[in-house]
Amino acid sequence: MKHIARKYITQRLWGYYAEEEVVTAARLQKLEGKIVLPGEPLATIEEFLPEEGVYVDNGVIRAAIYGKVRIDSRNKRIRVEPIKATLKIPRRGEIYYGFVSGIIREDLALIKLVFDSQMERLSGTFTGVLHLSQASDRRIESVYQVIRLGDFVRVQVVNEHPLLLSIKQPQLGVVAAFCSNCGAILYRKPGIDHLVCKRCGNRELRKVSTYYMFVDRG
Ligand SMILES: [Zn+2]
Repeated sequence: MKHIARKYITQRLWGYYAEEEVVTAARLQKLEGKIVLPGEPLATIEEFLPEEGVYVDNGVIRAAIYGKVRIDSRNKRIRVEPIKATLKIPRRGEIYYGFVSGIIREDLALIKLVFDSQMERLSGTFTGVLHLSQASDRRIESVYQVIRLGDFVRVQVVNEHPLLLSIKQPQLGVVAAFCSNCGAILYRKPGIDHLVCKRCGNRELRKVSTYYMFVDRG
């Protein structure tokens, strides 16, 4: 048998511990915000102090409810925050984010709502109608002058049944748009009406929101 120096064993052992620590830290870091099901193992009682929404079974902390894991790493506490299962229904005046999913006529577009104003995913599917009269505060002939299929938009609910939307206000409108020519991101340049594609040089018109994501200040 090959003789192994004690120093080597110590080195290997410390290496193992360090690795284990990194693995554990990474695992615990991934837990924060994770959506879990009842009974799902989260951590051990050596790692955390169990709080609301969890239970302990044989030293293992498990989720007691369907929800989001919340970790207080300073105080070594873990809990599961319940996710409201109630369906959020768009109400008049509320702000949502969604995609232009269809343009039915020159004066009518469909918008599929995906997120609420806090960018929380909606649990239900809602498709609203954007009429030309709610698309711009300028006189326009076609919705193609303000939006295109696939645009990501910030909208306000103006009517619930049927679900009618508006992008008239400055904070409303297109938040992200892509080049009709090549598919690249379109950039807003301060002082220019058109959005600009940096890849192919294409220029396109939109009713841009003050929340527009891609701004080229160069
Ligand atoms: Zn392009």
